[in-house]
Amino acid sequence: MPPKMRKVRQDLRVTNALAGSSGASIPDTCVLDMDGTLLDLYFDSQVWNECLPRHYGQRSGLSESAAREHVEQVLTRQRGTLTWYCFEHWSRVFRLELTQIEYELRHLITVRPGVTEFLEALQARGIRAVLATNAHPKSLLRKLEITGIGRYFDAIVSSHEFGYAKEHQKFWSGFAERYRIGLERTLFIDDNLAVLLAAQRFGIRDLYGIALPNSRGERLNHEGFECLENFSDLTHRLMTS
Ligand SMILES: [Mg+2]
Repeated sequence: MPPKMRKVRQDLRVTNALAGSSGASIPDTCVLDMDGTLLDLYFDSQVWNECLPRHYGQRSGLSESAAREHVEQVLTRQRGTLTWYCFEHWSRVFRLELTQIEYELRHLITVRPGVTEFLEALQARGIRAVLATNAHPKSLLRKLEITGIGRYFDAIVSSHEFGYAKEHQKFWSGFAERYRIGLERTLFIDDNLAVLLAAQRFGIRDLYGIALPNSRGERLNHEGFECLENFSDLTHRLMTS
């Protein structure tokens, strides 16, 4: 698609999202993922893809590449489940203190560009903001303490409370019931394609991905979903609609 057409399509998509399904008003609720959406995924990438294999290799006597391969294989088996996001489980499996590793890298926990302004715009427009994350509650708490973003939210949810990850329909049914999520009037933003597909299957209509969840990683292009370069377009439309 020519760049100009793509821009027009993006603008229409954003306008539709902020106009809600009726086209008459902006959404009443915005549900936001945390890691890779509000916060830079570089931190998590360092914890899981670099520090964990390195510490495991040192402890087990494996070479760094062998440790990396083993850790990746073991983690992959649980991808998309709540177990995959459970610190305590992996601390037991790898016999490492993951909480300590996270603590040592806490200086890498940062808010992505444009996020604070977007959250302020939600507040200014009276749109309910809900943070919904697969992060373990301990990790969630640490990130909220370090970044201070919790003050912008009307509700903060870890999927661990529901017993199912956001990739699962049972998360969405429990979450939607507890927080009275209207499918037609909710904007949902998440960097994880499997989660976007699950939310779409549940019936949420206005969905966005994130183009660069890890500031030092690869650019994503989820087919079927517009991936935001940053939040400033959405913020601008919120404040001018
Ligand atoms: Mg995420």
